[in-house]
Amino acid sequence: MNFKLLFALFFVGLIASAQDTYLQCGEILDVKSGKLQSEKTIVVSGNKIKSILDGYVSGTTDDNVVDLKSKTVLPGFIDMHVHIESESSPSRYLERFTKNEADVALQSTVYAKRTLMAGFTTVRDLGGSGVNIALRNAINKGTVVGPRIFTAGKSIATTGGHADPTNGVRDDLMGDPGPKDGVVNSPDDGRKAVRQRYKDGADVIKITATGGVLSVAKNGQNPQFTFDEIKAIVETANDYGMLTAAHAHGDEGMQRAVKAGIKTIEHGTMMSDETMDLMIEKNTYMVPTISAGQEAARLAKIPGYLPPVVAKKALEIGPLLNATFARAYKKGVPIAFGTDSGVSPHGDNGKEFGYMHAAGMPIIETLRSATITNARLLGMENELGQLKEGYVADIVAVDDNPLDNVNTLEEVSFVMKEGVVYKQ
Ligand SMILES: [Zn+2]
Repeated sequence: MNFKLLFALFFVGLIASAQDTYLQCGEILDVKSGKLQSEKTIVVSGNKIKSILDGYVSGTTDDNVVDLKSKTVLPGFIDMHVHIESESSPSRYLERFTKNEADVALQSTVYAKRTLMAGFTTVRDLGGSGVNIALRNAINKGTVVGPRIFTAGKSIATTGGHADPTNGVRDDLMGDPGPKDGVVNSPDDGRKAVRQRYKDGADVIKITATGGVLSVAKNGQNPQFTFDEIKAIVETANDYGMLTAAHAHGDEGMQRAVKAGIKTIEHGTMMSDETMDLMIEKNTYMVPTISAGQEAARLAKIPGYLPPVVAKKALEIGPLLNATFARAYKKGVPIAFGTDSGVSPHGDNGKEFGYMHAAGMPIIETLRSATITNARLLGMENELGQLKEGYVADIVAVDDNPLDNVNTLEEVSFVMKEGVVYKQ
């Protein structure tokens, strides 16, 4: 037997069977430079970008060609704040008592698909029941269609805090949840809660540093952790290589979180100038979630949609986000794109670009925050967030030039994730 011949035949066979995809792009928006590049072909091999060629190239007869000549092509978007398991509804508060875990799991697959079809190829899930961990795994395996998920599992709160799972329920159902359920009351509890999440398979840690809008509780902005509790959580999360996020509306709780080393402040509604300066100094990111503020305030005006205690907070807090974001951006606070989808409908994530732009951020910077910045925060800057040779083939296309028409980002017409076309 001629082994050399066998070897050669084997390789010829491999090469011939490797089918590449040629995306013929009218325009590619390089989010880093902000420049449009006309008439290019992105060659995708497996789950990676193999090369970007000048002109329209078709490859061999075995290869797939996708005509995006009338489109503007961008890297897949990354949303740093979603809740993929649920969505606002008038029966939201009752559903905690009526829905089984299986119901949550099934609906989460629908939300995941909608999110991907909107061009969001990666999301960070900042808290649910833990179904989000199973969903992430199923998506990674390819059994469910959805974005790549980095999840917090279940958020961490203090007793009666924003993410205490038994807030507002009857005495005999209230119990006394502890670190396993994400309720902590000391630095030691905090460390245990982080380690439990690591054991559960969470990727990131989320705390609710202050009161929140949608929980059945009076105060939407009080500080709810001591500095030492947050510090213990951050130190432990850092030991385990887990990115940290803090939900915060009020300034005091926000400032404690920043000082304790939390990496992203979610919402940041009542952020003072002092806190902004501190965030700039410590390179802490604001995740503005303007979509959530808009939606919560809208729902609060629908009679009976939200419980009265929640509606009052939604009207007070929701509309403030736009102005705070505008101030923070102008001052130079680092910004990471995030929507809090689940409060607003899944699949509407792209509206956030328009909200950010209306508040004063140039469109190209909103796009950078949703791509390069978020990839870096997730530790994926060499794989995600740009269209470059060797990067993961997460690619989307829109009909218009987004630099002229930000709203085109709400209507993504082509989606590829890891080299697989999901929308065309
Ligand atoms: Zn949230």
